[in-house]
Amino acid sequence: MHHERGIKMRIKEVTSQHRRDFQAIYECEHCGELRKSGGYDDANFHENVIPEMKCTECDKKADGSYVPRETKFPEGYQI
Ligand SMILES: [Zn+2]
Repeated sequence: MHHERGIKMRIKEVTSQHRRDFQAIYECEHCGELRKSGGYDDANFHENVIPEMKCTECDKKADGSYVPRETKFPEGYQI
């Protein structure tokens, strides 16, 4: 799967692990938001589940009403 532009959470730190079940701190690569969550230490989880995780902070900003702002001045314009 390709996630070129997606906002990805990644594991920052595994805080505890019991067999394959673990607790970890996930970090958003985009805004740095930290989230504690559980996980399951197998290939499917790492390859399919983590890449689909959404950052709640970025998700809030990117809800339906979000429209990217245009720059106030054109690129290269001398202010
Ligand atoms: Zn984020």
